[in-house]
Amino acid sequence: MGVKVAKFGGSSVADKFQIEKLSEIVKSDKDRRYIIVSAPGKRFDKDTKITDILYLCHTHREHNFPYNQLLQVVEDRFTATAANLDTKVNISKEFDTIRENLENGCTPDYIASRGEYLSALLTADFLGYDFVDTQELILFADNGKLLEEETNKAIKECLAKHEYAVLPGFYGSYKSSGNVKTFSRGGSDITGSVVARAIGADVYENWTDVSGFLMADPHVVDNPRRIDRISYKELRELSYMGASVLHEDAIYPVRVANIPINIRNTNFPQDYGTMITAEPEDMGDGDVITGIAGKKDFTVIALYKHMMSTERGFVRRILAILEDFDCNFEHIPSGIDTVSVVISNSSIKGRLDEMVDAFRKQLEPDGIECFENMALIATVGHGMNRRKGVSAKLFSALADANVNLRMIEQGSSEINIIVGVENKDFETAIRAIYNAFA
Ligand code: ASP
Repeated sequence: MGVKVAKFGGSSVADKFQIEKLSEIVKSDKDRRYIIVSAPGKRFDKDTKITDILYLCHTHREHNFPYNQLLQVVEDRFTATAANLDTKVNISKEFDTIRENLENGCTPDYIASRGEYLSALLTADFLGYDFVDTQELILFADNGKLLEEETNKAIKECLAKHEYAVLPGFYGSYKSSGNVKTFSRGGSDITGSVVARAIGADVYENWTDVSGFLMADPHVVDNPRRIDRISYKELRELSYMGASVLHEDAIYPVRVANIPINIRNTNFPQDYGTMITAEPEDMGDGDVITGIAGKKDFTVIALYKHMMSTERGFVRRILAILEDFDCNFEHIPSGIDTVSVVISNSSIKGRLDEMVDAFRKQLEPDGIECFENMALIATVGHGMNRRKGVSAKLFSALADANVNLRMIEQGSSEINIIVGVENKDFETAIRAIYNAFA
């Protein structure tokens, strides 16, 4: 028998109807043995996620504001789902404990984790699977880093005793104290990946409310094509540039174990979704590009200095200044006597004038220019490697769309080309690239 780990996101456990769909999916394949669930998410557009309300309860408690009504909203939602699914879980008893802990000053991680905990209790009961708490299995060091070895061992040993189980996503505990510690928001994806790796699953299925990755943001491009297959590396490039379906940190655990991730849609289980795998050895005649993603709001600081190319340590000093400002940079495109740094506005944090001043004083350039309101767009695909004319096609498409290119970078891996355009041209540029290649 094979083993599949299937993680279901917040919208897939939002209410009785969604949990019934989950059950049908799980029961249709006996290899789906370990099920990871998020806390209930939104049932409709203006709805609130359970995790958000739980964090709010903690904030209220901390500032001595009343929180009972808020917690009641959470309890009512779980009570209704438990009743509608006809489960035996005693929700009211669970909330007595939660209330008591909240009153006694529990941590925000503990209270936030209760969404996943209760969601897993209900789902396990409904499916007739064992409930296995991740609190004792996913272990963190005091500095918040996941203890990979210990975690793998604990999960492996524990799940060997359970043929079918439901586990809550999002949290584990500090090894030293046993106190609950959560991953960052959206972290149930990481739990699924960590469990899949620990037990050497055949596949990690990630069930959500979209049928996989799209080639471009559907808010920008009408009906973009779905990506059937994407490599971990391509996914990393696209997620970094803002394409989001899966938590960024969920890729590493399964990647090292070479376990494919399959993004699936709980509402359309017949869709095959997107398969994320190691890069194919033979690029064959597949698509030239896999996807396009981008982000707005960058600033380019361009420095000019006569004979810069012969001056030792110029770039090192630029980096030292950025370090002094505790500022990440995205790219450093350079010419003969010019060098530019591309920095996100969120990293500059309103300190552009101070930074320019530091550059002026410490580097004594002949000129500095700043270009604000820039956007970066990454066109990604293994297929562009070893193929001629890809950049020519991309640049012609942008020129035909009347987009002014301010920066070009091609990663050394040759799986992406990044262009810098003005914010106002962002959407036009993405559509032009998409239409040229899709
Ligand atoms: N419930 C958590 C959140 O909303 C974790 C998750 O859903 O993955 O961030």
